[in-house]
Amino acid sequence: MIDSVTKDKSRTVLTNGHNEKAWKVVASEAAKNCKNYIRDIVDNLVLEPNPDKQVIALSLGDPTVYGNLSPSKESVEAVLEAIESGKCNGYVPTVGTEEARQAVADYLSFDGVQYDYKDVILCSGCSSSIDLCITVLADANKNHNILTPNPGFPIYRTLAESYGIEVRSYNLIPEEGWIIDLAHLESQIDENTAALVINNPSNPCGSVFSENHLRDILEVAYKYKVPIIADEIYERLVFESTRFVSIAALNSHVPLLICGGTGKRFLVPGWRLGWIVFHDPVGAFDAEIRRGLGCLSQKTIGCNGIVQKALPKILLSTSQSFYDDVTTILYNNAKLAYKIIQDIEGLTVYMPDGTMYMMVKIQLERFPQFSTGLEFMQRLMEEESVFCLPGECFGAPGFMRIIITIPSELIKEACDRMREFCKRYYTK
Ligand SMILES: *Cc1c(COP(=O)(O)O)cnc(C)c1O
Repeated sequence: MIDSVTKDKSRTVLTNGHNEKAWKVVASEAAKNCKNYIRDIVDNLVLEPNPDKQVIALSLGDPTVYGNLSPSKESVEAVLEAIESGKCNGYVPTVGTEEARQAVADYLSFDGVQYDYKDVILCSGCSSSIDLCITVLADANKNHNILTPNPGFPIYRTLAESYGIEVRSYNLIPEEGWIIDLAHLESQIDENTAALVINNPSNPCGSVFSENHLRDILEVAYKYKVPIIADEIYERLVFESTRFVSIAALNSHVPLLICGGTGKRFLVPGWRLGWIVFHDPVGAFDAEIRRGLGCLSQKTIGCNGIVQKALPKILLSTSQSFYDDVTTILYNNAKLAYKIIQDIEGLTVYMPDGTMYMMVKIQLERFPQFSTGLEFMQRLMEEESVFCLPGECFGAPGFMRIIITIPSELIKEACDRMREFCKRYYTK
């Protein structure tokens, strides 16, 4: 009982509550506008697996869930050493320590690109990097808009909309390896366009832009003087003969904010280490943006000090065989899934050139029982206990995204079940 805590009857803060008015605490617009597009769609599906079949989740964009992919031993050692040093328990500069920033600068200095630690700001994961980049460039009260890919990763929309910034999506062309429809991109730009977000290599498409395509994108950005936020979280996570080219390597006169982190290539998304790197040969960011991002980095008071301490070893000592093994596993899984799905009547599969994902199109006209891809996917779960992420989560209805990070025997099993399912419902 707390009603006797205060003897002063005129104070009502600590009464026993019998006659309290109901509390009404209203959430901010920022909170209400902060949507999780994946949850919104997935939570509205009826997902009841077949009790006789083990569920195979081809949906989870976290490479660690099945335990078949582990971080490099250098990464693990580096973090253990950082903790044992006893020197990582305090605050670090909000933009990151000089050593950690220099490690990122060195790690990304290739193909003729040369960075310095002053070009790097560390963040709590790449999502936080993207958040700060959008925040520093776009203002809701100036009616700014940003351009994002479709299909594309929904976090750009989630972040921008929570600040009231308009999001305009530009199309990718599936038949041409998911390159940007440049005419459509141009048609979306106006004088209020504050940034162009590109994602290369792409989640969910698994596509990797060629040097020539990157040049074309830069031309458009240059023509309209729109700075680019380049989400390169899957940098160098590419297969066999595909080469990853950072947009920075083209050394254009377009100011670039390159976002990345250790989450994907190093298989440690939970370590929450991201970065923003300035590539700005014309100095467009010098007057305000560099300082502005420095100020915004104070929002988190700096990112995890333990991982920062470990960062030079993670980035610069991880052996080439680790990277090779990861890409080989992903590539083999992609080929395995591609080979099976390619022969399934009613589906169109797009072979990825990198990342952890591939896109599959459901030829809905071949499955008249289902009026939407969502219905198709619900039934696939109900009958075969296989679940993929609906393209709707990425702005691409009628597609599904499957992940290629799970053990290959499960990928095979899931694709085989998909084949059986399609066979049952395919209509000529
Ligand atoms: C996973 C992912 C991110 C977020 O990375 P974190 O470091 O986990 O915040 C950003 N962009 C894309 C395209 C991703 O797939």
